Amino acid sequence: MPEHTASILIPAPVKMTPRPGKHQVRNLTSFSVSPEFNTVVPELQRLFKALAMPVESVSGAADIELKKGPLPSGAWQIKITPEKITIEAGERTGAGYAANALAQMLFAATAKGHPEDALDCAEIEDAPRYPWRGFMLDSARQFQDKDFIKKFLRTLSAFRINSFHWHLVDSQGWRYPSKIAAKLGPEGSWSFGQYSREDLQEISQCARELGIRIIPEVDVPGHSSFLLEHYPEYTCDPAGKCNEFCLGKTGSMKMIQELLAELMAIFPDSPIIHIGGDEANSAHWEKCPDCNAALKAKNLSNMRELENDFMVELAHFVLSKGRTPMIWGPGIEQVYPPETVIQSWLNFRDNLRFHKHGNKVIHSVHTSLYFDYPASLNEYWESWMMELSEQGVYMTDPYCMWYEELKNTILGLEACLWTETAPQHRIMSKLFPRIFAYAESAWSSEENKNWNDYLRRKGKLEATGYLDFIRDI
Ligand SMILES: [Zn+2]
Repeated sequence: MPEHTASILIPAPVKMTPRPGKHQVRNLTSFSVSPEFNTVVPELQRLFKALAMPVESVSGAADIELKKGPLPSGAWQIKITPEKITIEAGERTGAGYAANALAQMLFAATAKGHPEDALDCAEIEDAPRYPWRGFMLDSARQFQDKDFIKKFLRTLSAFRINSFHWHLVDSQGWRYPSKIAAKLGPEGSWSFGQYSREDLQEISQCARELGIRIIPEVDVPGHSSFLLEHYPEYTCDPAGKCNEFCLGKTGSMKMIQELLAELMAIFPDSPIIHIGGDEANSAHWEKCPDCNAALKAKNLSNMRELENDFMVELAHFVLSKGRTPMIWGPGIEQVYPPETVIQSWLNFRDNLRFHKHGNKVIHSVHTSLYFDYPASLNEYWESWMMELSEQGVYMTDPYCMWYEELKNTILGLEACLWTETAPQHRIMSKLFPRIFAYAESAWSSEENKNWNDYLRRKGKLEATGYLDFIRDI
C-alpha cells in the first residue's frame, strides 16, 4: 500500500485529513499567486524547474492558486482536490512555508518519474508551535561571504526559520564597516573579510523577501578584544590586553551607545537588537580604579552588580530607540528590564529564573541546540563541546519540566552555530541533517512529534531527491 503523499511532511503538520481521489501531476500547467506573495514566485519556479515540470506563473485562475486568507502569522492551509490545488496563507512567511510543503509532496509524488504520478487528495492545516524559530550564525570567528549568507538565509527559510541572529563582532573579528569604530577593518581578524554597506543592504533585502528578520548582535562588554586593541582607551588597562570594556570610564558607555545607534541605522527593519552580555571576565574590573570608583559611586557591592548595571543602562538605551534589547542569559543572578528578551544558553533551569523577573525567553541551551558541537564523536571537537546527535536536537523541549511555570515565558527556540571549528565550507555539513530535526522541534506541537515517524518521513524525502533540492537552494 503506497503511503499517502502528504504523510511525508517535515515539520509534521497540525492536521492532515486524507480525502478521496488523486490530483494527476501531469495536469499541472499553471500557478498563480496573490500580489502580496509575489516574492514566493521564484521559489515555486525553482521547484518546477527542479522537477522538470512545465508549470508557468499566470494571473487569476490556475491549477495551483496561492491566496491570502484570514490566517495568523506563519500559518497555512493546502487543499488538494482532483481538479485543483488551493493554498491559503495569512502573510508572506506562511505562503513560503506552504510552497515548501508542496515541494515535499511533489517530490514524493514524482520520485519514480512515472507519467501517472499523482498527489493524493488531502486537506492540510498547519501553524507554528512557537512564534520564534531562530538560527544564530557566528560570522565573527569565521567570515562567510555575501552569497553564502544569502544561501544560508534561503536554507533557513526552507526550514521555516524566521529569525536570523547574526553574531557580527567578537574578539576575533569585526564584520561590518563602522564610522564610530573606523579603525576596524578586515585586517587582523581570524579569517579575512568584512561586509560592505551594500552587502548588508543586499542581505537585508534577501531576508525581507524571505520573511526572515535579522537580529544583529554587538557583543559587549566582553568578547571585545578586537575592538579594544584598536581603542585601548576604553579598557581598564590600556597598556595590557583586555577582552572587556572598562565599566567605569564614561567613554565606554558613550562609545557602545554610538555603536548600537549606528547598528540600528544599518538594520532599520530589525525590531530586536542583541547586545551580547555573555562571558565577561571581571579580573581587570577588580583591579581598575575607574571601575572601583563607579562601584562606590553607585553603591554596589561587586563587579557583577556593576556589569549588570552597565547592561541595564544599555538595554534602556535600546528601548529608548524603539527597539527591543536581547541578551545572552547570564550564568549568575542578574536582572534586566522585563522587555529584554533573554537567550538562555547555559542551563535549561535558568528559564525559571528569567521567568521570575518577567522576561521572555529564547531557548538555546547548548546541550540541545549548539550546531557547532559534533553530531558524533567521530567528528572533530573541542574540549568545551559535547556530542549533539540529530536525536538530541529532535528531543529538545523547553517545557520538558515546569510547563505550568513557563507556559507564558518561552518565545521559541534558537539554534546556534559558533564557528571556531567551522569555516564556511563546513557550515552546511554542520546544518544537515540536524536542521530537519530542529525544524520539527521549533515548529511542530509535542503531540505531533514522533522520532520514529520523523525518521520514516526523512528517509522518504531522502529517497525522493528532496535533499538535493534543498542543498542546491
Ligand atoms: Zn575599569
